[in-house]
Amino acid sequence: MAPPTSDIADALAHVPAAATGAVVVDLAALERNWRALAGAVAPALAAAVVKADAYGLGAEAVVPALARAGCTVYFVATLAEARQVLALAPTATVLVLDGLMPGAAAAYAECGAWPVLSSLPEIVEWSGFARATGRRLACAMHVDSGLNRLGLDAREVQALARDMHLIDPLDVRLVMSHLACADEVAHAKNGQQLAVLERLLPLLPSVPVSLAASDGLLLGAAYHFDMARPGYALYGGQASPSRHAPVEPVVSVHARVVQVREVAPGQSVGYAATWTARRLSRIAVIAAGYADGLPRQMSAADGEAGGSVAFGGVLAPIVGRVSMDLVTADVTDLGDLSIARGTWAELIGPAISLEAAGAAAGTIGYEILTRLPRRFHRVYRGTGP
Ligand SMILES: *Cc1c(COP(=O)(O)O)cnc(C)c1O
Repeated sequence: MAPPTSDIADALAHVPAAATGAVVVDLAALERNWRALAGAVAPALAAAVVKADAYGLGAEAVVPALARAGCTVYFVATLAEARQVLALAPTATVLVLDGLMPGAAAAYAECGAWPVLSSLPEIVEWSGFARATGRRLACAMHVDSGLNRLGLDAREVQALARDMHLIDPLDVRLVMSHLACADEVAHAKNGQQLAVLERLLPLLPSVPVSLAASDGLLLGAAYHFDMARPGYALYGGQASPSRHAPVEPVVSVHARVVQVREVAPGQSVGYAATWTARRLSRIAVIAAGYADGLPRQMSAADGEAGGSVAFGGVLAPIVGRVSMDLVTADVTDLGDLSIARGTWAELIGPAISLEAAGAAAGTIGYEILTRLPRRFHRVYRGTGP
């Protein structure tokens, strides 16, 4: 369900006049999404993945909202992100997915975040630091079940099982793995990875287990174990084409029309003159460009489809090249709508989902989200308790 358009219009009405663009984040929807996903995986616990500044939405607003909703466990990618989350939610448990950077054990220990250890050298370094300082240091252990990105492979797990005293100084609190194809419900790799993980678990410390991210948790209870780790779905993303996550949109992005110009037939629009008007055209010049996360791949040359913007729920095709600060859209067929200097164009919102924007740029909604514009005005709605 899209957020009521009138709420977005209301938020935009309060944006400073000088702002060229606006990102509207609905924190109440974010809280509802976390609760819905937590309900879907119960009795397993729902953590929240808030890496990359909460997927671009702004950890400073997102983490307190998730904490209000009841979230106590957060995953980030880096130690700097962990510090930020702990400053916002001091009692939270924070895990660092990129693991332990060499030589950084003291910094991790001081921060209190748990590194997710993904290789024997990381385990050796963290346990060596624990032994040297006489502290029992918490961590998670990542095992690879077939993604072949991070995690101990079966051989390393067996080596560790023969040499368990290596982790004696450590307080291993979670064993986790990550799925490669969870957005394809019927993909054989899902079941294969589940089987690999289940085969390796008896060799590992018997602690809580986590496998599923946003799409994995839609695969069913067999994938939930003790904890799910959704990120994208919390922010309204629907990565799986065949399963609908029980979440609603959280973000919309808007930019103002700078001017509307008439372009005569035969005239080109934009850099490199890649698009030519076939008729007398009304072209809206909008204050959003690739520096605002609008991918240049949304450009449209003659005879090619590119991305779209929307006015009042109606799509208008991008024409010509997306430039750094501006984009041009053909609004000739939107004559009924009064599009003029200052009008808001929707880039992401009720008419253009994250997935649609990603597809139009040959990428995925995740990339659109994590590149949300930094120079647009930000409105956080639903900040109340
Ligand atoms: C980013 C990430 C997640 C979250 O994935 P979503 O698809 O955004 O839910 C979970 N686990 C790991 C290991 C990740 O890197």
